[in-house]
Amino acid sequence: MTSLLLKYGERSTRYSVEETARLTASILVHVAPDGKVIVEAPPECPLAKVKVAVQKRARWIFQNQDSAKRSIMHPLPREYVSGETHFYLGRRYQIRVKVGRSEATVKLIKGIIQIHVPLQDRALVKRRLKLWYTKRARDYLNRRVEVLLDQFDWLAEAPKVKLLPMKMQWGSCSPKGSININPALIKAPRHCIDYVLIHEMCHMKEHNHSKRFYALLGKYCADWQKRKAELDQIAELLLAE
Ligand SMILES: [Zn+2]
Repeated sequence: MTSLLLKYGERSTRYSVEETARLTASILVHVAPDGKVIVEAPPECPLAKVKVAVQKRARWIFQNQDSAKRSIMHPLPREYVSGETHFYLGRRYQIRVKVGRSEATVKLIKGIIQIHVPLQDRALVKRRLKLWYTKRARDYLNRRVEVLLDQFDWLAEAPKVKLLPMKMQWGSCSPKGSININPALIKAPRHCIDYVLIHEMCHMKEHNHSKRFYALLGKYCADWQKRKAELDQIAELLLAE
């Protein structure tokens, strides 16, 4: 991962460039919920080319950074109407609400969360979207636990992930060996989700917040403090309904 500097008028910001194997030609620019700028480029794409592409989008980047900062300071109540943005795995997606189908469906297609509802009803849109997040959370979190499992020799099998809406917490673990996760965590960036899962999986060896626990956490997630700080900063935004 390379870190570069973008300048635009009086303003400047750093951005990180990640090589993404699935990209062939395009360069993708994202502004994370905390305002960080992430650029995805095809492997071996010349940095000069990346710089030009990012510079072209400078105005858009700073506008999005400003709105990210504003929404962290003052999360607005959600309205569940077309054009509004909602988070999924740390990225902002617009929702598009269409009325008329007999059955309600939610699908992420071409970067837009498409919601079909039989009648104009914001509460219904909200419920369906929440259900979609919960389904996505169940799939994603269980898959991540399976992937992370290999490194933890104290766990013979993947702990069950239970989704539990919580007001103040992202995760906890039960003495029976399952992990409770707040379904809203699916809105957070992937590295923050991993931090929460690793934290809970470490609790299955060290059941408290002792020095030994933090030593273990540091071993499996060296930059956990950075990830936690990022998650804390955007918590209110992700939990806003
Ligand atoms: Zn803990």
